[in-house]
Amino acid sequence: MSKKNKYQVDEKGMYGRFGGAFIPEMLYPNIENLKTVYLDIINSEAFQNEYKALLKDYVGRPSPLYYAKRLSEKYNTQVYLKREDLNHTGAHKINNTVGQILIAKHMGKDRIIAETGAGQHGVATATACALMGLQCVVYMGEVDIERQAPNVARMKMLGAEVVAAKSGSKTLKDATNEALRDWICNPEDTFYLIGSVVGPHPYPDMVARLQAIISEEIKWQIKEKTDKDYPDYVIACVGGGSNAAGSFYHFLDDERVSLVAVEASGMGVDSGETAATIALGDLGIIHGSKTFLMQSDDGQITEPYSISAGLDYPGIGPQHAHLHDTKRGSFISATDADALEAAKELTQLEGIIPALESAHALSALSKMSFKKDDSVVITVSGRGDKDMATYMNRFGF
Ligand SMILES: *Cc1c(COP(=O)(O)O)cnc(C)c1O
Repeated sequence: MSKKNKYQVDEKGMYGRFGGAFIPEMLYPNIENLKTVYLDIINSEAFQNEYKALLKDYVGRPSPLYYAKRLSEKYNTQVYLKREDLNHTGAHKINNTVGQILIAKHMGKDRIIAETGAGQHGVATATACALMGLQCVVYMGEVDIERQAPNVARMKMLGAEVVAAKSGSKTLKDATNEALRDWICNPEDTFYLIGSVVGPHPYPDMVARLQAIISEEIKWQIKEKTDKDYPDYVIACVGGGSNAAGSFYHFLDDERVSLVAVEASGMGVDSGETAATIALGDLGIIHGSKTFLMQSDDGQITEPYSISAGLDYPGIGPQHAHLHDTKRGSFISATDADALEAAKELTQLEGIIPALESAHALSALSKMSFKKDDSVVITVSGRGDKDMATYMNRFGF
């Protein structure tokens, strides 16, 4: 493989020793079909024109790269915030759902299925389906349906059908099983829309390409604002890893740019109440992909924990596992307490209330040291409206 693409997926669907498609035989035709067509569709002029037009007029891109003056003064460096929180629906997830819906349309599919834990991906999927007039079925654990009532209401208002997964722990992994079962039974008309850079090949690569718009914009925006055409650091939080993958994408081969991913360590890496997958570093297979994950001694996937619902995924996308393996990326972690502090700080220094997920990325400012002239880009993956109940509870407002 050429040196240039050493951090990208190879023809076998692998990132180094990670990735692949470890799936039941009954899913082979669906995955093969997608694998055969996705690159041609994404690279076609028709797709690019439609996708770019929707990103501009519907999502509201480009999202600003904002120079955070007061934050820069506090940390004695140059901090730029990539404002994915300003996108329609309030986070980066819409970049991916709009893109995959267009791919589904090009494949002639008119029924979309998805699974969701906290409901954010379900809402982004239901939004894109409403936009395109496609049928939308979202699988969600029965426990999560109760915990995430406002997002369930949003999905229903958007016209989606929300189906409760009632087996097992009645959470995300059970919803995933139900969605896979549906896809096996309905291969002809149904497209399975995955929300992060996880799952069997080609999903991690497809989602990374659809989120790559984030780093495509950072590249020209940083050039407008500084005397260099690259930032010294790009920092993003990782759950499955899609906002980080999109923020890194166009800098992977530019070793002048340090790539930093921040995992959620919940109550602490060794507390048993954590989602810091890389820090724990167990190799296994989750959702059809070989990567690091959290598992018990007998190989059962364990329940992750983080204060932010979007980061409590028990695995991590295979590209990130490879970036860690090759040391191209640095992986650090932030606790619930670190994230809360960083959220309050951003709010009071810059007037921006971030999502709790994004606050994990912001906490890197206090954990790392930077030079005065460094340009440090931090992706603010989403806005904090959805987290106000947690902020009220924790801060006593
Ligand atoms: C879902 C979500 C995340 C985590 O997902 P990634 O795939 O790791 O990006 C991060 N931030 C926000 C605001 C989210 O909604």
